[in-house]
Amino acid sequence: MANLLTIVTPCFNEEDVLPETIQELGRIINDLIKEQLVDPDSKVLFVDDGSQDNTWQMIKEYTEEFPWATGIKFNRNYGHQNALIAGMQTAVKFSDLIITIDADLQDDVNAIPKMVRKFLAGTDIVYGVRSKRETDTVFKRNTALLFYRLMGKLGVKLVPNGADYRLMSKRAVEKLLEFKEENIFLRGIVPLVGYKSEKVFYERKERFAGTTKYPLKKMIQFAIDGITSFSIAPIHLIFGLGVFIVLMGLGMMIYTIIQGILGNVVAGWSSLMISMWLLGGVQLISLSVLGEYIGKIFDEVKHRPRYTIEKDEYTNKFG
Ligand code: UDP
Ligand code: MG
Repeated sequence: MANLLTIVTPCFNEEDVLPETIQELGRIINDLIKEQLVDPDSKVLFVDDGSQDNTWQMIKEYTEEFPWATGIKFNRNYGHQNALIAGMQTAVKFSDLIITIDADLQDDVNAIPKMVRKFLAGTDIVYGVRSKRETDTVFKRNTALLFYRLMGKLGVKLVPNGADYRLMSKRAVEKLLEFKEENIFLRGIVPLVGYKSEKVFYERKERFAGTTKYPLKKMIQFAIDGITSFSIAPIHLIFGLGVFIVLMGLGMMIYTIIQGILGNVVAGWSSLMISMWLLGGVQLISLSVLGEYIGKIFDEVKHRPRYTIEKDEYTNKFG
């Protein structure tokens, strides 16, 4: 059979959820094997993103206990997106299809068989799409909505309510891995890979246990990365703002000259102060936007490795 499935699951300090995760994913993968939808050598690959708790010890135990469980371990925390990439990069050599899913079971595992069926019917990419987010906090829901709107306005194609929960065929993953940019934003890149795609809808559940590993600070960074690695719209915006401010300045100049001729020199002081502050502010914003892009270029030209794998049980299992 040429349909070996690997389910890639990034884990960062997930000792609280793993016992449930291993059970659920085990049930799914065993069912798929039993129904002969996937190869009997199919695997669940846990990527330990430099956890500080017992996550790796637990993964190690699962590896010994279940033939289908395996893991790789980073030497430190490289972030969710890098964990996903490392998992795919490691798995793609042996797999015909790869599904990525978060460890916390917020994304319904029962969508996996549906995804696999769509793959077997000839689809290369199957997106998991949340039909409801009622269990997310109001704050998370609204910030997420704002983010998708903003990205849309900036011309970045995203699957709305798409998580990093999706199936990709071998050739789609291989294409994806050819995108060499350092600041990878998978949700934005996957649609660029092309190939036939479909969606599977599911309800997003509450985090089974533990706390979110995406606090506000990481969420903001994620949004900034998403915007600046895909769009130069902010630069256009700053340019428009600059033109507007210059026109204002010209108006202010004429106004000041007239006031000067009329002898109300002291009155000009306030407008001078206002324009000074305004311009100062605009310059600072512009500089920070430019800095953001220069920072990106800086990252790209360094070509640093995205991650370092310290232990690799997956490749061991195959070879
Ligand atoms: N994660 C990771 N590295 C990180 C942060 C998160 O591998 O630095 C993993 C985490 O273990 C989980 C997934 O990424 O499997 C999504 O994180 P989380 O559920 O905390 O995010 P949320 O669902 O709150 O957006
Ligand atoms: Mg989560």
